[in-house]
Amino acid sequence: MSRVAYVNGRYVPHNEAAVSIEDRGYQFGDGIYEVIHIHEGRFVDTELHLSRLARSLREVAIAPPMNDAALLVVLREVVRRNRVSEGIVYMQITRGVARRDHAFPKGIAPALVVTARHGAAFPRDIDAWAGTAITVPDIRWGRCDIKTVNLLPNCLAKQKAREAGTYEAILIDGSGGVTEGSSTTVWAVDAHGVLRTRQLDDHILPGCTRAALSALLAEHAIAFEERGLTEAEFRAAREVFLTSATSYVKPIVRVDGVAVGDGAPGPITRRLFGLFARHADGVGHNQASRLASAPGIG
Ligand code: PLP
Repeated sequence: MSRVAYVNGRYVPHNEAAVSIEDRGYQFGDGIYEVIHIHEGRFVDTELHLSRLARSLREVAIAPPMNDAALLVVLREVVRRNRVSEGIVYMQITRGVARRDHAFPKGIAPALVVTARHGAAFPRDIDAWAGTAITVPDIRWGRCDIKTVNLLPNCLAKQKAREAGTYEAILIDGSGGVTEGSSTTVWAVDAHGVLRTRQLDDHILPGCTRAALSALLAEHAIAFEERGLTEAEFRAAREVFLTSATSYVKPIVRVDGVAVGDGAPGPITRRLFGLFARHADGVGHNQASRLASAPGIG
């Protein structure tokens, strides 16, 4: 079955979908994006992703191309047309098309592209899902809280991770603190047994999976601290795991070739992996974002 993309108001065959060479996303990376995990035909954490999208757009002064209800109709339609029940939906909004000039052009409409793709089934075996990581310097800009399509430093970092045969590159800032992964939030159980993830500010993306997991932690009265780790604290951690819309809760069992703890997912990571799986399955949540009414879904 051939894939379908949404481009500025039209559903088109994926391999024919195109934007102008003067789209500011292409020219300047002047755009914002979001990725939502689709599991068993449902969007996971939809509201969190839509509100982060709105915030990112506000921060760079791009007008939303449509309201959330209309955007959800487009997202559902792209997912339906691609018959995705396990995978992701991707949306990208750029400032639009104009003659190349760094300053914002006047009177142009933002451009919206939406795609969906199948992904591997949601992991159930935590040991099989465990991965490894390297550390690299964080060379990104000062507004990493905005989910911009400007991802070159993240791509360079991820490429290093791949070349080292690992899953993720964990970024260390100029003052020796762990910020985040190239496309993930970093969590650790420190040497004293305290579950920690870095506080939110301009230097990391406010992960939607981080927010969902934080809510689950509060719900289950599991203590954690929003306090970044130094590189030394990170290397001494008992457990390390990552979160993202496509990594879920992902144990990291080796960093720079050195085992984390005993080299297997630890007890806290195991518990949170289970809690997040129930959350993604929709257990205990309303089914409002279920897409099962769409043919071929769910
Ligand atoms: N940090 C960065 C730099 C990311 O690119 C991502 C996701 O793409 C995340 C963290 C995790 O965010 P989320 O949980 O919303 O997928």
